[in-house]
Amino acid sequence: MIEIRVADITTLSVDAIVNAANSSLLGGGGVDGAIHRVAGPELKQYNATLGGCPTGEARISPGFGLPAAWVISTVGPVWRGGQHGEADLLAACYRNSFALALENHIASIAFPAISTGVYGYPKRAAAEVAMRAFQAYQSRFDRVVACCFSESDAEIYRTLLND
Ligand code: ADP
Repeated sequence: MIEIRVADITTLSVDAIVNAANSSLLGGGGVDGAIHRVAGPELKQYNATLGGCPTGEARISPGFGLPAAWVISTVGPVWRGGQHGEADLLAACYRNSFALALENHIASIAFPAISTGVYGYPKRAAAEVAMRAFQAYQSRFDRVVACCFSESDAEIYRTLLND
């Protein structure tokens, strides 16, 4: 089932939350900063052992201080006009995050709107990529949560879900 929520993703009680990380996996701004603050310094210490993550790939870590048991960090593409493989890379973020979740027997997972903050991906185009992935994988999970940070972002997902 796909759920559209307006929430701070760090508050969600799901098996895994997905982090829109940067390739260092050591923390940053936006949702990444929020996740590291609530998880605590152990997340950065753990991620330092992972050796980074290329754009489009994903890595898994324990949730430490978060209500979620796991953090799946994925590195979204920086929007450079749309002709630089951005859509394929963003789709890979969702696909690789779901694949890691399945490998780890995760039943409930929440995603932020990857790349739509400082990475500048247009929100509607990013939501189309996200929703295609949610629809492809939802049958293998109890809950897939599209975690929006604003009501207007949630409205974009609702429109696509009802199409
Ligand atoms: P990126 O670098 O991938 O663009 P950002 O963190 O800048 O990542 O933004 C990604 C999305 O996450 C944006 O839509 C932003 O509004 C949203 N966001 C920021 N903080 C949170 C949070 N605590 N919970 C859920 N979503 C958040």
